[in-house]
Amino acid sequence: MKIAVPKETVDAEPRVAATPDTVKRFIALGATVSVETGAGKASRIPDGEYEAVGATIAPDAATALADADIVLKVRRPTSDEIRLIKSGALVVATLDPYGNAEALAELAGAGITSVAMELMPRITRAQVMDVLSSQANLAGYQAVIDAAAEYDRALPMMMTAAGTVPAARVFVMGAGVAGLQAIATARRLGAVVTATDVRPASKEQVASLGAKFVAVEDEEFKQAETAAGYAKPMSAEYQAKQAALVAEHIKKQDIVITTALIPGRAAPRLITAEMLASMKPGSVVVDLAVERGGNVEGSVAGEVVTVGDVKIVGHRNVSGRIAASASQLYAKNLYAFVETLIDKATKNLAINWDDELVKATVITRDGAVVHPAFAAA
Ligand code: NAD
Repeated sequence: MKIAVPKETVDAEPRVAATPDTVKRFIALGATVSVETGAGKASRIPDGEYEAVGATIAPDAATALADADIVLKVRRPTSDEIRLIKSGALVVATLDPYGNAEALAELAGAGITSVAMELMPRITRAQVMDVLSSQANLAGYQAVIDAAAEYDRALPMMMTAAGTVPAARVFVMGAGVAGLQAIATARRLGAVVTATDVRPASKEQVASLGAKFVAVEDEEFKQAETAAGYAKPMSAEYQAKQAALVAEHIKKQDIVITTALIPGRAAPRLITAEMLASMKPGSVVVDLAVERGGNVEGSVAGEVVTVGDVKIVGHRNVSGRIAASASQLYAKNLYAFVETLIDKATKNLAINWDDELVKATVITRDGAVVHPAFAAA
């Protein structure tokens, strides 16, 4: 059984889908592993570290992918990569399946069995495989570091002989995995932190991190969480009440970090140009939802823009900005799942198609898009 780890090619993706640690574990399960030269470079993993644990270093993607039974990737394979992958191979990656029907059809047409790791159910057994959480946690941390770097003042209160610098006020919008880590990070840096969310369950989590919860807590709020733990899209009426509360609160903030998402939909718009105009000069807003349509009016994916006297940070792929840590956790998530698909006796793939984790994540198989959420009607 051959496992391939090609170098990522899309959007200068710096992460890599396997580390020397996970390669060693796959080899212990009886696999051979081919890593494309330079695959780990942007995550600070030299070829030699993969070689040292028994991987073969391939000079190019074609050599790495030739005859591979399993392909481990961060991003969905491109058309060029798909041509190099044999029919029947298993590809495990983040496939970004929503709104990408053509790309999914291409994977199906090539006979690839594809797994979208971001669809992994959020149940206890699958926590170790949860790429959304591992990457969002790092993105929440990095968002605060990026904000601090753009902010022209100190975050902690500093009492010095020359006077007192006040603590920065940080407001985190969306207290899921990324938001909670942003709260914790801002608190560690000494900021005074408030946070909001539409899910009632988040209130206690925010308080437990030492931040103050600010939200419209009406009847709709009490019902805003789906059975899967995600937020529902809120009514126009709720959004208006929320906007009024945010407009009042945001004037007093120095840094705002927005993380609000709703699965499979455009991100909710939480900050308007009018709200930005009310903020103090030098304030910084980080829009972690920028690649999904943005929570902030005027945010631009891949750019830091200045609107009036406020900087709006819209970096793409924020977990990739700390690629070495992100790759370490992502690779471990992939290993934890793929390991369950391998028969330890025959040392071959033996996928149980009835397993709830497999059913939830397999998008294409046997030449068709099989996932019910993405199969053509
Ligand atoms: P997400 O990335 O989908 O969204 C980020 C946050 O934005 C969420 O907290 C959401 O409620 C919030 N949001 C959405 N619309 C909003 C609005 N209009 N205003 C303000 N906030 C808004 O969320 P996530 O980080 O993936 O977490 C989703 C859920 O999954 C949470 O309940 C989390 O605790 C849970 N979770 C469970 C597990 C597990 O049990 N294995 C693992 C990770 C996350």
